[in-house]
Amino acid sequence: MPRDFWLEAGKQGLLGLEIPEEYGGSEAGDYRFNAVLIEELAKVNMALPSCVGIHADIVAPYLVNLTTEEQRGRWLPPFCTGENLTAIGMTEPSGGTDLAALKTTAVKDGDDWILNGSKTFITNGYGADLVIVAARTSPEKKAKGITLFGVESTMDGYSVGEKLDKVGQGESDTAEMFFDNMRVPAANVIGEVDKGFIHMMTWLPQERLSSSVTNITHAAQILEETITYAKERKAFGKTIGSFQHTKFLLADLVTRVEVTQAYVDQAVMQHVEQKLTPVDAAKAKWWSAQVQNEVLDHCVQVYGGYGYMNEYRVARAWRDARVTKIWAGTNEIMKELIARDLGL
Ligand SMILES: Cc1cc2nc3c(=O)[nH]c(=O)nc-3n(C[C@H](O)[C@H](O)[C@H](O)COP(=O)(O)OP(=O)(O)OC[C@H]3O[C@@H](n4cnc5c(N)ncnc54)[C@H](O)[C@@H]3O)c2cc1C
Repeated sequence: MPRDFWLEAGKQGLLGLEIPEEYGGSEAGDYRFNAVLIEELAKVNMALPSCVGIHADIVAPYLVNLTTEEQRGRWLPPFCTGENLTAIGMTEPSGGTDLAALKTTAVKDGDDWILNGSKTFITNGYGADLVIVAARTSPEKKAKGITLFGVESTMDGYSVGEKLDKVGQGESDTAEMFFDNMRVPAANVIGEVDKGFIHMMTWLPQERLSSSVTNITHAAQILEETITYAKERKAFGKTIGSFQHTKFLLADLVTRVEVTQAYVDQAVMQHVEQKLTPVDAAKAKWWSAQVQNEVLDHCVQVYGGYGYMNEYRVARAWRDARVTKIWAGTNEIMKELIARDLGL
């Protein structure tokens, strides 16, 4: 997405909902503003809520809540205007699920830290000016030895690979990044040294809730378009929507979407009241991803051959959605969290 897109989003005040006014944001102070923004973007496609969401909804809480006054003054004003695009780098080529086993290292050298390693699949990674990078600072401590760093793209030793060639969401920039003896000043440590894992766990429920809002809105939008198509497309002299199979199928899909929407809305309200548990966020995330993928697969079927043509929104939506069962914690890991809560 071109930088002009980000500058325009900044001008319209879409990027600073979580940012205090003194740094150029609107400090909306209620997660429902984020949810509405993500919903409107998800009606267009999946890449928009993903890229904008990483910046304005996922990175923002780290930069507001874990930073020093000096860092906020340095990073937040260009964050709101879209002049500085951000990303978050947790996943590495060797694995994303087992976050505590990450291999990127940061070794203290005087007042600075020397980073070595790499990250992959990073949304906004190719164009990002500032990346929150999780690195190992205490090798012997596993989860308790990870620290977050604000890595600026101008730093010596920082490089990004080619934009990754994905199955869907072609317009979003997803990249691999490398740190080669990169010197990061202590002033760029985000939060507490060795507390990075806890910091990441703190903000993951919001990330998973935002994924859920995106998933269900995206499915609902394409389903609505599919119902319209079913009322227009004819076979055997009748609209395909008049066949009992299609009627029952669409009734089933609408029910699945609306029931899921009710659960996601409830989770949104819990989050507004600061009561959303990581387990309930996990339930919303895997379930909405599952429903989204099932609904879109049926929608492709209703469109017949046109459903397989890239020219049609339904085909693109189907491809774009596949990743939602993988990113921000896979469906398997969401179920692990839920099972653990059951005492299993
Ligand atoms: C388009 C895209 C954008 C992304 N954006 C970002 C980003 O901005 N920042 C970022 O840090 N990451 C990002 N990711 C990475 C994403 O979060 C990871 O891909 C995801 O967490 C899974 O990690 P992995 O790919 O290494 O799979 P692996 O960890 O190798 O897992 C492979 C399979 O094994 C299963 N598995 C692993 N452990 C267990 C277990 N204990 N029990 C049961 N099953 C298990 C997984 O569920 C999965 O099915 C992105 C990924 C994609 C595809």
